[in-house]
Amino acid sequence: MNNKDGKLECVPEYGEPVFKVVEQFLSINGEGRRAGQLALFVRFAGCNLDCEYCDTRWANERDASYDAYTCDLLYEMITGAGINNITLTGGEPLLQPGIGILLDHLRTERRLNIEVETNGSIDIEPFFTKREDFISDNVTFTLDYKTRASGMESRMCMHNYELVRDIDTVKFVVGSVGDIETAVDVIKKYRLKEKGCCIFISPCFGKIEPREIVEYMVKNRINDVNVQLQLHKYIWDPDRRGV
Ligand code: SF4
Repeated sequence: MNNKDGKLECVPEYGEPVFKVVEQFLSINGEGRRAGQLALFVRFAGCNLDCEYCDTRWANERDASYDAYTCDLLYEMITGAGINNITLTGGEPLLQPGIGILLDHLRTERRLNIEVETNGSIDIEPFFTKREDFISDNVTFTLDYKTRASGMESRMCMHNYELVRDIDTVKFVVGSVGDIETAVDVIKKYRLKEKGCCIFISPCFGKIEPREIVEYMVKNRINDVNVQLQLHKYIWDPDRRGV
């Protein structure tokens, strides 16, 4: 059913959570473990942070236009897309009421690789699977550690860095050499390499040159960390949505 703006409206059962989806699109993964691969992106409305470099602020505005999905409808949309890589992003996807239920449904679709891009301020432990019969979880978390460049570093939930698994990813978006040093400290303190999680350092677009990160890594012999550029910002206009 469409409302007057042409946006999708669902009719939830009483008390049923409704997911606010501001956009969904197919593209390549611009970053992360599956960078370069096709993925379905589902972007949810709303965020609890306000990063200085946020490029999706429009999705966090109170009056952002969204499609309302019930859990069943969203599950059908995701599983019916014919795409194996699914990126749930935002905003902050873990703020959506019912997201844990959706993740548990999606865990039953073993062909899917579900990547939850979270801003690092929300405890991820409640969203881990409780099922012991899963040899490997197909729901993984990409934790964005917000360095000083974001202005949100004090909001990080450091418990998450104790919990990360070898299937999860930690990404540091850095805007200065000081931010790289913070990243290195967190990697060491929480033994992220030893835990086997994937570690990325990405330049904050326009604030630091990728070359400076590489030079720092060479000088300081930083092994087992990946420099990653946000591919989509190089392929398309950096401000373009839906890519
Ligand atoms: S966490 Fe992400 S969506 Fe939220 S303000 Fe920061 S950059 Fe924007």
